[in-house]
Amino acid sequence: MSHRQWDEVKYEVAVANRVLAETGLATGFRASLGHVSMRIPSDPDKFVVKGRGYAVDSLHSVRPEDMIVVDLNGEFVDGPVGSSQCFEVKMHSSIFQARPDVKSVTHVHPHFIVLATTLRQRLRPMNQEGVALVKDELPVWPHIKTVQNDVEGKEVAALLGDGKAVLLRGHGATTVGNSPEESVMTMLNLEEQAKMNYYALSAMGQDHPYIEDELIAEMTERTAIIDLPHFAKVLPAGWRPRVGGVWQYYTRVVQNDPSAAPEMNRPS
Ligand SMILES: [Zn+2]
Repeated sequence: MSHRQWDEVKYEVAVANRVLAETGLATGFRASLGHVSMRIPSDPDKFVVKGRGYAVDSLHSVRPEDMIVVDLNGEFVDGPVGSSQCFEVKMHSSIFQARPDVKSVTHVHPHFIVLATTLRQRLRPMNQEGVALVKDELPVWPHIKTVQNDVEGKEVAALLGDGKAVLLRGHGATTVGNSPEESVMTMLNLEEQAKMNYYALSAMGQDHPYIEDELIAEMTERTAIIDLPHFAKVLPAGWRPRVGGVWQYYTRVVQNDPSAAPEMNRPS
């Protein structure tokens, strides 16, 4: 049976996992820690995720053929011989079960997010990138252990609720979205906010200022660029700004990265 769409999703998921490495969310000794998943559009009760058990396990070098197809109970459906689902697959499956609207889940262990959860610091809005994500307090799963079974997976999914992100104390974060681009970009924005929170805390202590709700509202309720007279003059009717440049850039980089080739030729 041909699974053309499975292969397309595997490709997209492998690229997204490489982007986690390329953007620094899974590098150094965290090189094998983290996973992006994506629901298969033609089989919405299945998803594709990075697995475990590879000869070389690093997000930097995963290939489409390394990806694992899993059902909504976290059970293995398809993948290379000797590989398994990622160890925290129940977090992905529980979220996909609870949230039919979610098409992609990203989980990593970013430094500044992890530190904020350990220090019990509520993330505050600090700068434009990702500002709305931390306007309200984000839920935190109060354990450092990995999410390994249905009970733990469902606890994390319940904390996530209808939100975009849930934090795991001393461990990492999990974000969701309409696509791998959205779940990964949300994670990048969240880590950016966490980094700025850490700088602010270091510079000014617990009572540092942060961006007020009114200013966030001002930013999110702006006039569309096309409706501004000095743009309407030059841009064609119906034009919308092209967004997603960061994602386009990084996906191009990782798809053409010669250093991600899995093997060198050993002299014979
Ligand atoms: Zn983890």
